[in-house]
This record gives sequence, C-alpha cells and structure tokens, in this order.
Amino acid sequence: MQRELEIKKFLTKPKKIVITTHFKPDGDALGSSLGLYHWLKGNGHDVQVIVPSDYPQFLDWLPGKDDALIYTQAPTRSQEIIAEADLIFCLDFNNLSRINAMQEVVRSAPGYKYMIDHHLDPEGFEDDGLWDPAAAAAAQLVFRFINTTMDAGAQITADIATCLYTGIMTDTGSFRFRSTTAEIHLIIARLIECGAKNWEIHEKIYNSSSESRLKFLGFALLNRLEVIPEYNTALIYLTKQDLAQFNVITGDTEGLVNYALSIKGVRLAALIIDRIELRKLSLRSIGDIPCNEICKNNFNGGGHLNASGGSSHDDLESVIRTFKSVLPDYKEILTKN
Ligand code: 5GP
Ligand code: MN
Repeated sequence: MQRELEIKKFLTKPKKIVITTHFKPDGDALGSSLGLYHWLKGNGHDVQVIVPSDYPQFLDWLPGKDDALIYTQAPTRSQEIIAEADLIFCLDFNNLSRINAMQEVVRSAPGYKYMIDHHLDPEGFEDDGLWDPAAAAAAQLVFRFINTTMDAGAQITADIATCLYTGIMTDTGSFRFRSTTAEIHLIIARLIECGAKNWEIHEKIYNSSSESRLKFLGFALLNRLEVIPEYNTALIYLTKQDLAQFNVITGDTEGLVNYALSIKGVRLAALIIDRIELRKLSLRSIGDIPCNEICKNNFNGGGHLNASGGSSHDDLESVIRTFKSVLPDYKEILTKN
C-alpha cells in the first residue's frame, strides 16, 4: 500500500535512513547509493548503506565504501538497522527479489520506502519514488533527486560527484549507449565542475584487472564463444570448472558479454554462467531486440530493452538449449537489415 509523504519536508529534520541496492551491486548500484549517502549525511541524517552482497574489486575505492555494510557479513545488525529506519531508499532495482536475502526484511520493515530506479516493470512495493525507465542510470536519478526534488544542486560535493559520475559512466558503457542523451552530458559536465576527476575514475574502473582476469578473458573468448550466424547471435558460457580454474571473483565477468556483441553483425549476445546455486544469464542487444522480454519469459528476469539479466535452476546445457530455442521467435527482428 502506498503512503503519502512529502519527501522534501520529511527530510528537513534528521532521520534514520537506510539505503539499499541490488544483489551483486554494479557501478551504478554502488555509485548511486554512495552518492545519495554522502548528500544525506551532509544534511545531518543518520544514514546506513546496506548492500545485499559483495561487489566487484574495481569499485572498492569509491568514497564512503568502508561505511557500507554487506548484509551477508552482518545479517543481525543489518536487520536491526533496517527495522529501525524511518526511511528506506531502494536504488537501482524495482523488484524486491533483486535484494535476495534482504527481501522479506525490507518488505516487512515499517520505514517509508522510496525507490529511485530506471528499470522496466516495477513491482510496486514502494511508497513513493523517482522512477524513470528512460533514465540512463539510477545515478542520473539521484542527481535529479538532489538537484530538483530537494533543490540542493549547490550541495553536490566532490565525493557525491565522483560516486554519481561512476554510476552514469558504467551504466552508459562510458557514454556510448543509446541512453546517453544531451542531458546526460550536461549532468556529467556539472559533476566534473563539482570535483569528479573523470580521467581518474576511468582509470580506476577500467584499468584495474589482475593478470589472471585478463588470462581468463582470453580463455573465455578462445574456448567458450559460440557464434550463431543464422540468428546474428553470439553466446559465451562458463562452466563451474572454468570459474574454479581461473579463481573467478565478483566482477571478473563484468563486460564479457559485450565482447560477444562487438562482433560485426551480431545483434544479440548472451553470457551464461554456471554459478553454484543457479545459472545466471546476461543478455545484450542492439536496436529493438527485447532482451528484457526474453529474460522475463524464459529466465525469470528482466531489466532494460538492450541489457537484461535472469537466472535458471536448470543445468547449463539445458539453459543454453533454451536460449537457442528462443531465437527462431525473434528471427525476423534478428536478421532484418
Ligand atoms: P547484468 O547482465 O549486467 O547482470 O544485468 C543487466 C541488466 O539486467 C541490469 O540492469 C540488471 O539490473 C538487470 N538484471 C540482471 N539480472 C536480473 C534478474 O535476475 N532479474 C531482473 N529483473 N533484472 C536483472
Ligand atoms: Mn542501473
């Protein structure tokens, strides 16, 4: 049930606030959360960021990251803080299943839930929020929240700017996806004015691979890439043994699916990973090919038109088979010029 509350007025007095984001936070999830964290803290609120799981090493420098709690490492403390919060910000997700073990804890918490998100198909758990599926990143919406909703654009510090820049940069593929509008570039210009060191952020995010990660990428491209020319589709799969052999850690597979999509003529790319509990899928496409529909109908997932994810409890071979069996349904759109 939705509860009315005027957020700007509500935030004029110090509040207990939790910020959470989706499982396995990416640059936008963590960047938007920490950006909002710095702003709320600067305004005298008692703020705790709680993420459902660990996050990639290449984000392990973001300002404020040491103040964030990882739910799986401190479940009891996290539950207490969530239960006591006046306000729970839910960033970069719109379905509580995306916060895994925190799902019921947040659902049953009495705090007012404010969602800031840019994915399609919201579940509707929130009391209020900023939802815009045309936005390139949750960090763009956090900028809008601070700048417009709160009328506090002058309070954007270098730390806030750094976090929001990271979120927008990672979710737009360094400002090259279709979601990169003139507004995005104007926001980015403003964030640089506020102190985001753009070159340094690029360096930290993209030039921080370990030697073993690079060798793992080489292995995957050489041995696990399959192109299906009749459907202009490419897929990369990774077995449990591959993950073990290369000591693959959170973040190591980030961006791998984009290599499959970078092949000339390929319009749909999949990355299928045989994780311990389930098989995780990442889909990317160009043009009107609806990754989100494919994920929603076949892999219990969703996301954006051109970038979606999902999962399955079937074994790896079955998931690959299911993925291939879907392609004929999209033949026309996959093969049109
Ligand atoms: P990725 O492939 O990078 O994990 O995710 C791509 C996009 O799909 C992201 O916007 C992400 O939030 C969304 N996504 C990833 N996995 C899932 C999932 O299991 N369910 C839903 N609904 N969305 C997902
Ligand atoms: Mn996002």
